[in-house]
Amino acid sequence: FNMELQRSEKMEIISELAASVAHEVRNPLQVTRGFLQLLLEKSINKDREYLTLALKELDRASGIITDFLTFAKPEIDQVQLLELADEFRHIEGILIPLANFQGSKITSRIPKDLYIEGNSSKFKQAFINIIKNSIEALREEGQVHIWAYTEQDEVVIHIQDNGEGMEPSEVARLGEPYFSNKTKGTGLGLMVTFRIIEVMKGNMKFLSEKGVGTEVIVRFPAVIQEDPI
Ligand code: ADP
Ligand code: MG
Repeated sequence: FNMELQRSEKMEIISELAASVAHEVRNPLQVTRGFLQLLLEKSINKDREYLTLALKELDRASGIITDFLTFAKPEIDQVQLLELADEFRHIEGILIPLANFQGSKITSRIPKDLYIEGNSSKFKQAFINIIKNSIEALREEGQVHIWAYTEQDEVVIHIQDNGEGMEPSEVARLGEPYFSNKTKGTGLGLMVTFRIIEVMKGNMKFLSEKGVGTEVIVRFPAVIQEDPI
């Protein structure tokens, strides 16, 4: 028991540290990318090849930060009351431009006054990872639909896409570190997401069919808000 406590304290310190490093590193990465891009435009032959590789590796570094730590706050996590519609408004604000950029559509129906307990930054990180995967799986006429409701003492959230889908053998590997089918993937997104949802006392299930699409179902304990008298 004591060992466990020490381990989780260490994990806490490491994740705080990682979060603040990520924040500091993001800007210089972007600046470096800009200059490399400029050089690439002016370069020839072998130089082009090296610069392209350098850019690819920089993008990989940014990808790791995005999957892991986009919203991580350097302070100790605070548990707050989260209102789902409010959280998803922020999440969609970030992801709708990404979807529109590739000609896909996101629709959502999240009723007001669904509450859960958790950390807002981590919640956003988890759902950005899930929805970003859906967007990246989309093909022609791509659509992602998000909806939520209360069922008994749980809040249930569905994220459904009509993307490329997965084989059962792929579904079985989700959340495994470095499992990715993408050339620019990190294979860390869902590992982080599973962990966040577990810490928030929720669970996540994937239903998927190759060539048809994927549905992710996430459940959290609902927090019942008493009506003020
Ligand atoms: P990454 O996105 O960097 O590849 P993730 O952990 O986010 O890593 O996802 C792992 C893999 O799971 C993806 O490469 C993809 O093959 C598969 N996957 C996850 N979500 C979906 C989805 N909605 N539709 C199809 N495949 C998915
Ligand atoms: Mg991903």
